[in-house]
Amino acid sequence: MYLNNFEYFAPETPGEALDLVARMGNKAKVLAGGTDLLIMMKEKMIQPEYLIDINNVKEFKGISYEPGKGAVIGAATKISEVEHSPVIRDKYFALHQAAGELGSAQVRAMATIGGNSCHASPAAETPTPLVAFGAKIVISSVSGDRELPLEEFILGNRKNALAEGELLTQFILPEPAPKSASRYWYIGLRDAMEIDAVNMAVNMVLENDGRTVKDLRLVMGSVSPRPLVSVEVPGILVGKEFNSELVEKAAQAAAGEAKPISDIRASAEYRREVTAVLARRLLQQAFDAAREV
Ligand SMILES: Cc1cc2nc3c(=O)[nH]c(=O)nc-3n(C[C@H](O)[C@H](O)[C@H](O)COP(=O)(O)OP(=O)(O)OC[C@H]3O[C@@H](n4cnc5c(N)ncnc54)[C@H](O)[C@@H]3O)c2cc1C
Repeated sequence: MYLNNFEYFAPETPGEALDLVARMGNKAKVLAGGTDLLIMMKEKMIQPEYLIDINNVKEFKGISYEPGKGAVIGAATKISEVEHSPVIRDKYFALHQAAGELGSAQVRAMATIGGNSCHASPAAETPTPLVAFGAKIVISSVSGDRELPLEEFILGNRKNALAEGELLTQFILPEPAPKSASRYWYIGLRDAMEIDAVNMAVNMVLENDGRTVKDLRLVMGSVSPRPLVSVEVPGILVGKEFNSELVEKAAQAAAGEAKPISDIRASAEYRREVTAVLARRLLQQAFDAAREV
């Protein structure tokens, strides 16, 4: 379980960080919280020659919010800061819930929101609500920045769209629509420190009548190699008055869209069943909350 020898760099400005990433290319790994990276190094799955620690770059950290525009979260922001941010709790509740469920308090104090998406585990907690909010990411390099919807960034199990010399630097979350609410939850095999068997986020917008669904995103995690955005559920509910018959139809549709595998944590059949359970619960919870806004 020893780490290989590596050279350690701790840049203090975005320019220094991007320059190091450009110069060292594939021989380097970015170190954010290290809660995935150091385990992979200990298990000799990877043996980088250089580590570029981005924790001292203040421009890569923090949460800002501008009314009418939305929120920007730095990629090196700790999960615990996301969990405890009043803006995230008030405006992006599903992300607040997901951040609070990631690992333990110790893990949340180290882990970053950027590391969670870059590691691209299908069971990851925060990409699911972020995709439900339509979050975009900013990818930076010495040649400039580019933006991408998060669902296009996560390509599969431990695969993301970063090219050599690029860093994930920000998440951009749009301003929530009026009369909207979001909810997140997961089902795992135990309550503490488990890896999710299925997780899900719903972001629902209602018409002014408080009954008709105006817009909806339902995103499933851990039932496909990458966050799975439901196509069928909005087709069933958008433009209709919310009722339990449609919710049941939507829950079955979500279970049908899921592409789960069987592994040590759950069978594909179990995952499909709990997908319907989560969809039923979260659609109802998001609807009830949106009526209150
Ligand atoms: C005990 C334990 C429990 C856990 N429980 C959960 C859980 O419940 N839910 C969950 O989702 N995860 C869980 N995890 C996994 C892990 O904590 C998260 O995925 C975490 O968010 C990773 O962030 P990090 O900052 O530690 O990433 P790191 O380990 O530092 O990096 C992960 C990968 O992303 C790359 N990277 C990181 N940031 C950037 C960036 N800005 N630009 C480019 N590349 C980057 C790194 O080079 C590395 O390849 C757990 C881990 C442990 C050890």
